Amino acid sequence: MKPVQPAAKSAITSDICRSAQVARPRGSGFALGKDHVLDGTRRARGKSRPVEHDFRAMPVASPFAVASTNGASAAGPAEMPGAARDPPGSVFVREWFHGSLSRVDPGMDTLAIRRPDDFHVHLRDGDVLRAMAPHSARVFQRVLVMPNLTPPITTVAEMVAYRGRISSAAPELDTCMTFKLMPWMRAEHIDAFHRAGAIAAKLYPAGVTTNSADGISDIADVWPALDAMARNDLPLCVHGELPGAETLHMEAAYLPVLDRVVQAFPRLRIVLEHVSTELGVEWVLAQADNVVGTITAHHLVLTLDDVIGAKIQPHNFCRPVAKQRKDREALRSAALSGSPKFFFGSDSAPHLVGDKECRLGCAGVGSAPVAMQSLADVFDRADRLEAFTSVHGARFYRLELNDGHLTLDRKAATVPGVLDGVVPFLAGTTLPWSIRA
Ligand SMILES: [Zn+2]
Repeated sequence: MKPVQPAAKSAITSDICRSAQVARPRGSGFALGKDHVLDGTRRARGKSRPVEHDFRAMPVASPFAVASTNGASAAGPAEMPGAARDPPGSVFVREWFHGSLSRVDPGMDTLAIRRPDDFHVHLRDGDVLRAMAPHSARVFQRVLVMPNLTPPITTVAEMVAYRGRISSAAPELDTCMTFKLMPWMRAEHIDAFHRAGAIAAKLYPAGVTTNSADGISDIADVWPALDAMARNDLPLCVHGELPGAETLHMEAAYLPVLDRVVQAFPRLRIVLEHVSTELGVEWVLAQADNVVGTITAHHLVLTLDDVIGAKIQPHNFCRPVAKQRKDREALRSAALSGSPKFFFGSDSAPHLVGDKECRLGCAGVGSAPVAMQSLADVFDRADRLEAFTSVHGARFYRLELNDGHLTLDRKAATVPGVLDGVVPFLAGTTLPWSIRA
């Protein structure tokens, strides 16, 4: 993580404050009132001066221009008819593979947004790390790095060494490091990770996904660690699926476990990662402001039919598995709503082709190289895309907003069939948006 520069911070803050539009998404069902602010005043880690923006100022108008072919600005908050007011399910009636779902003004040919963050990525290790990390670095300023290596990141030394390997593979990528929460961890372990700069701990229920056999079987086992995390204000990232439950119900079945955590540690910041169901969205919305959710690009695009429909499509198989249309529509409504309770985490989890196309194929979608292009085709407004990918997550993690930007052009491009040994998300399909080099 690059250190926060106070001068840059205040410049960004004042820019945002000048351009911020306090635009409450009408009809979205989200109360963005005073009690929707995490702390009332945001405070950068280790800084004495409060950051002067809060979650009420959502959505934030982009400080970057959004150009259109007729030269008119199209970024005016709350002015695009229908935005965030359509009930779930009324908009995306066409299947993804039958054409673009974009609701962006057809006259708009450029999207320029604040440089995005990816607050959930599996960079892997070794050759895959060296191949895939540069793809993330080309698009994202920061990444929240998942710790489920073999062996997992469970010590400060391992975390520091892993950060070094990532920096070697992609020196320009800012890394937000996590560690894997283990049943044996106590306050001294949490304190050590916190001092070493860990941004969050990741909880994997035992056996629920890749490299999670040594995960948490009984949530009570991590009570001492969670107590220390709450004391250190260190967020908890959760893979919220209950092992042993039926696949389509694993997320819903885990929500009562999370209820116990919320009740025991009401101030602990919690991220329900890769929310995949309507129930998951509703659960996040029902919680206080310190509980949020990440949403992937592929869960905004896929349904179960894209995994086990007419053909088996192993490269669309992930955990949690893509669900029903009503779930996808709930996720889209949440992501497009402008609610600060949802932000982007790609959960890009690349596997080599041979590990996907085999008898026991691995779970995971390698989406990082195409995530932003596919998001651009799902979002209806540049400012909400920017809020989702570049603002809400940074504020939750109390990080400075990025000061660079990313430009996408309405220029059709076909996703390669294989990229560095990995079949990327939407391989072989043509997306209407391209990232400007
Ligand atoms: Zn993941």
